[in-house]
Amino acid sequence: MGKVTFKEDIAKSALTMLKRKIPYGWDLNIYRGCQHGCKYCYAMYSHKYLDSADFFNEIHVKTNIVEELERELKSEKWKREVINIGGVTDSYQPAEAKYQLMPEILKLLIKYRTPAIISTKSKLVLRDYDLIDELSRITYINVAATITAMDEAIRTKIEPGGSTSIERFEFLKAFRKTNASIGLHLMPIIPYITDDEQNFDRMFDAASQCGVHYVLAGTLYLRGTTRKYFLDFAQKEFPEQYEKILQLYKTGGADKEYKTALYEKVNRLRDQYGLSSSYMKPMREKLR
Ligand code: SF4
Repeated sequence: MGKVTFKEDIAKSALTMLKRKIPYGWDLNIYRGCQHGCKYCYAMYSHKYLDSADFFNEIHVKTNIVEELERELKSEKWKREVINIGGVTDSYQPAEAKYQLMPEILKLLIKYRTPAIISTKSKLVLRDYDLIDELSRITYINVAATITAMDEAIRTKIEPGGSTSIERFEFLKAFRKTNASIGLHLMPIIPYITDDEQNFDRMFDAASQCGVHYVLAGTLYLRGTTRKYFLDFAQKEFPEQYEKILQLYKTGGADKEYKTALYEKVNRLRDQYGLSSSYMKPMREKLR
């Protein structure tokens, strides 16, 4: 990773309305660019709208996001729909330790009784434990950890800037003590690198010990900038798997036969640990 620079931007709004309203209607992203440096990052496309190609090292910060959010939440038009925090870039990436915008955002969600989803790869989310705990007693809040590999040697290659996988399970365990729902986002599953039974078995074992409410699984997609970036990385770091990955990814998604066999394996193991795949269930229960 190179030297990180921060660019402070003034955003016109805090919330972005999503075209598909289910299961949440709004996105909130504090940062553009992300220091976690995941090799499969699907959000790289978002930098093409900026004057920068360095998604992982040039971080744009919406410094007025708290004021904008309050303006939007106090409006009579606000219907308290679920806000997805960090749907594009991670809100608890290292920049957040410096800018500390999430605590102010959480205070507004509490004040305006607004439900939200947070998914992150960083234990920095524990800094805001008390606020998330308070929000969880008022409305629906979901805390999810995206975790892909239990083998740390693989994890540091594919997600160099995130917390260790064990640390991510630890924060899930901590938030299980609140009224928040907690989830494991097992995505993306990377063919021939993180798709082995042992990885899933360790993952589901840890998830069941944390008492997660659901597990969501999904395979790798490779399109546009992400495709080139990931394949160059795989060729260098996983030369033995590279050709097989190329064969599988003739288009953006892995081939159908591979995915059918993969999900059969994932579902079987998940069922063995008695884990649910429904992230909607806790949301419906809390918001009805
Ligand atoms: S945490 Fe998400 S946004 Fe950040 S680099 Fe990884 S995949 Fe991209």
